[in-house]
Amino acid sequence: VDSSGQVSYKKVGNSQIIESIEMGIRYSTSGTARKPERDLLMQDFQVVETIFFPSDGGNRTPAHKCSEFHFKTYAPMAFRYFRALFGITPDDYASSLCNEPLRALSNPGASGSIFYITNDDEFVVKTVQHKEAEFLQELLPGYYMNLNQNPRTLLPKTFGLYCYQCGGKNIRLLVMNNLLPTYIRIHERYDLKGSTYKRKASKQERLKRGPALKDLDFMDEHPEGLFLEKDTCDALIKTLQRDCRVLESFKIMDYSLLVGIHNLDLAAKEKCRQSEQAAKSKTMQEAGNSTEHGDDSESAVSSSHLSRSKSVRRERISAYSTAMESIQADAEPVDLDDHDDVPKGGIPARNSKGERLLLFVGLIDILQQYRFRKKLEHTFKAMVHDGDAVSVHRPGFYAQRFLTFMLERVFKKIQSPLKHSPTKRK
Ligand code: ATP
Ligand code: CA
Ligand code: CA
Repeated sequence: VDSSGQVSYKKVGNSQIIESIEMGIRYSTSGTARKPERDLLMQDFQVVETIFFPSDGGNRTPAHKCSEFHFKTYAPMAFRYFRALFGITPDDYASSLCNEPLRALSNPGASGSIFYITNDDEFVVKTVQHKEAEFLQELLPGYYMNLNQNPRTLLPKTFGLYCYQCGGKNIRLLVMNNLLPTYIRIHERYDLKGSTYKRKASKQERLKRGPALKDLDFMDEHPEGLFLEKDTCDALIKTLQRDCRVLESFKIMDYSLLVGIHNLDLAAKEKCRQSEQAAKSKTMQEAGNSTEHGDDSESAVSSSHLSRSKSVRRERISAYSTAMESIQADAEPVDLDDHDDVPKGGIPARNSKGERLLLFVGLIDILQQYRFRKKLEHTFKAMVHDGDAVSVHRPGFYAQRFLTFMLERVFKKIQSPLKHSPTKRK
């Protein structure tokens, strides 16, 4: 697997990759933006554009300190069209991805892919394997036919596919919508597949900050599921059903529903504790008794708060990108007035304790097609374990089990509107 992103990644410096990618995306985007408007043609999906970035600078490329590299853009005109579909202008796209350094996400999956996030929380960049990039290219026309008909979907929105080539290495990159805001605390994060086979986070994973929990962990933590208002729940399930039908039609499986939970009541308590701590350390300071620790934690909290509050207020660049927009529900029944630093668009819900939650959800990791399944041993064991012996039907079986799990275990309806149910305030 020499040509896969992961292997090459380890041999090229992190900051050099980021810088080169930013340069590549900026030039590719502005070049494509200059081309005249026209309708999309089927051939546009097959186009691959390559730009060479010599260190001394080229005709249209700047001189730079990184090693020379090639930057490939797949289906530039098609992606320009898709970005426009989601209201993303070339300027917004390029400045979001290239003006401030991408941050590496600390909590990637097991496949070895690297994730980067833009500073404004808008986009996630994922390194993908050759097979996955190829499959996406193949998928694009049909996939975007679906998005075109209905942009309200939880399917991942892909806004660009690139390949950074340097010293014989290829790193393929996918730009997609970010699902989880990073400037508020995501108290729990689940990657749900509707399977129970090996679907428990490892001890090692659990020790991490913000671990990726799985189906069995969810059932432990929320045996009764999460409670949504009836209309919201119906909209969510309807969207999932429609999306799973699309995935099944492409014989895609192994995808997950990413569920990030922000607990508003817990956040309020944390805020309270923080300000108590801050007040305490202030009194201590005034008494000439300030401790390093008290000082540090307070300033860290308030400064990160301040530096980000600007982007929190701003509307998102891409349309239809929040969870609420994705499921075509527009009620915001959780009263947010004393939590206005919370990003818009989370799906209001409650846990069984009655605590107010905001859910950030979306389907992820959809580039695994049935015919490409590699981990045969795992597949076989999982098939036996799940009682799915008829493998031809796997994509359909997968979708059905996935939906059943979401419907029966995860998202439950409550009858009364959330607004009127009693709220615990300290
Ligand atoms: P594997 O194939 O081992 O499951 P992977 O490398 O393909 O893993 P994903 O399953 O796509 O990775 O995602 C891993 C984690 O990265 C997710 O659990 C999630 O926390 C985060 N992540 C993925 N996509 C997004 C996204 N669009 N927005 C926010 N976070 C994301
Ligand atoms: Ca995955
Ligand atoms: Ca994967």
